[in-house]
Amino acid sequence: MITCDYLIIGSGFAGIGLKYKLLGKTIMIDKNPFQYKIGESHIPDLIHADPGLFSLIPKIEKMKSYTRKLGTVFCDSYHGKHATNLPTPLGARFTFHCEREEIEKLLVKELSVDIRKETIVDINLSKNLVTTDRNIYRFKKYLLDCSGPAMVIANKLKLVSSIDQFAGMKAQWSYWAIDRLDSKVNSWAHWTVLNKIAADSWIWQIPIYNSSILSMGMLHRGVPLSDNDFLEYVEKYSAACYQLTAITKNPDKAIKPYMKKVHSRLHYSRRSSKCSGKNWILVGDAYCFADPVYSVGSGVATLEAITIANNLNQNNGRFDHLWYEQRCNALLKGVIEGIGTWYSGNVFDKKVNERINNTILRGGFARHFQPSEITANAAKAQQDAIDPFLLSLNQYPKSSEIKVYYFGRKAFFETRSSLKIIHNRKNVRITNRVVQEVFKKYIMGKKLSFYHLYLIAELNLSTLKDKDCFWNAVRLIELFGLKAKYPDDLYYFHPEKYEMINGQLKLGGADYHMMIKDPKTIEFFEKLRGGIFFGSELLKLVKRTANASAQTQQDIRTFLNVFNGKFIFGRNFCLSG
Ligand SMILES: Cc1cc2nc3c(=O)[nH]c(=O)nc-3n(C[C@H](O)[C@H](O)[C@H](O)COP(=O)(O)OP(=O)(O)OC[C@H]3O[C@@H](n4cnc5c(N)ncnc54)[C@H](O)[C@@H]3O)c2cc1C
Repeated sequence: MITCDYLIIGSGFAGIGLKYKLLGKTIMIDKNPFQYKIGESHIPDLIHADPGLFSLIPKIEKMKSYTRKLGTVFCDSYHGKHATNLPTPLGARFTFHCEREEIEKLLVKELSVDIRKETIVDINLSKNLVTTDRNIYRFKKYLLDCSGPAMVIANKLKLVSSIDQFAGMKAQWSYWAIDRLDSKVNSWAHWTVLNKIAADSWIWQIPIYNSSILSMGMLHRGVPLSDNDFLEYVEKYSAACYQLTAITKNPDKAIKPYMKKVHSRLHYSRRSSKCSGKNWILVGDAYCFADPVYSVGSGVATLEAITIANNLNQNNGRFDHLWYEQRCNALLKGVIEGIGTWYSGNVFDKKVNERINNTILRGGFARHFQPSEITANAAKAQQDAIDPFLLSLNQYPKSSEIKVYYFGRKAFFETRSSLKIIHNRKNVRITNRVVQEVFKKYIMGKKLSFYHLYLIAELNLSTLKDKDCFWNAVRLIELFGLKAKYPDDLYYFHPEKYEMINGQLKLGGADYHMMIKDPKTIEFFEKLRGGIFFGSELLKLVKRTANASAQTQQDIRTFLNVFNGKFIFGRNFCLSG
């Protein structure tokens, strides 16, 4: 018999997150590690949840199946509504598309997580025993169920029911080879695209493998479609810029065997009526899964796992069941409410749209959707929980390729009204009190990597509405030299940052802007209005624009010079990357 503190069932995102973070003897078993799973579009929560995950971004970007994700495009072909773009405000590094198997393997390797490939034969909760085909385990503290849709414990205890709002929904999906992208049509090759095609039916399009493969799925309440009907139906609603080959019909185009099939998941929307018991805790899909519309499953599973591990670590293995129940209820309520906006069509409402943009697509999904019944104490406890998290940043030396910033006492001077910070002989004055506090509390005297600095700034500063504070944050970030690491060539042509003054176009905001005189250049920039482009794409576009004069080309280069390296920090402020 093998004894441990915690036993984890399942090595998906939830299991990996727990195994990585939990202190004490922890064993994770999976009957089939890295088996094919759906879920290829990821939100910031997946890597926001922990600095160790955060520091893996450069490796994630090198994965074969990786494709940038600039945001999510919502279309409603059914009601004929215009597409609504919700760009990812934090930038393409925080969200991405990829294959599950590849990212799970990367996490397991980089986070040094062990998985035991074993099949469960029996679970005896009253004796804290789990029997597998190879071993008998006795867990002293908790059995953590991360078995995803298998919902091992909830099924055993007969706690599973469907979620009323999404009951009966089904998913069918498959893979297409992208043979050609029509560059004349605004390319969606770096976006998750959702297209509503009937009241309760929609299609996802997710590019993977550097936009050479498209994952397309359809969700609906009807009877499952035959493979051929499904393929024809979905192709009909694909974005105009894609020239597609169904891999099921041309199997030699498949990069992986799973791409040759049409997959289905019937009645995917299920929950457990309880989220934890005396010696067990349900995490991720093993507790509940509602609907894939906002691509939050993997992020939520990871965030929940890290949060639960922190709770257990801080309380020496005792678990706060009431706190978790409130959290799960809040999460489920938020999920149902958030997903409902897509089915009702409210996602096209400006306010709802903004809310989704600032929450789901920005990270912090679970933090945002909180019902009023969460007490002030619980809210405060959540706020306080940030502190140990931030203080633990130094534990992660995974930043060997990342410059370490050190802010000693000599590097800052305080006067009555401002805090002067010196770094790399550059200096900045911080006038905003809150920013000063953040700096003194979390940054002074510490050695921090780029990602840690970014995380601190993001966590503490970006939520503050005050304009002064915002610009202080931007300057701080520039001072850190983040522009060298940030994808500094991403440009969002915010529609409201265009102003005609005396026949000239003022492009940009108060701090960074450029005046354009040449009518052809003005015409060129008008066409970009509302779009998001990488600097390199812009240059190519100029070259391709047959009538682009030398003046236009020069103006574009000036534009790139003026704005290059500036930081996107919230959609209201961004014109430049
Ligand atoms: C149609 C569809 C599309 C989706 N698209 C997205 C998307 O684009 N983005 C996104 O973030 N999410 C998406 N999701 C949701 C996402 O797949 C899940 O939320 C996520 O995988 C949950 O992670 P998890 O760790 O809880 O479970 P899983 O990732 O499912 O992991 C469960 C693990 O448990 C193991 N296991 C199961 N039974 C046992 C057992 N008896 N013993 C031992 N091990 C066991 C399995 O082998 C597996 O490794 C989608 C879901 C559906 C249904």
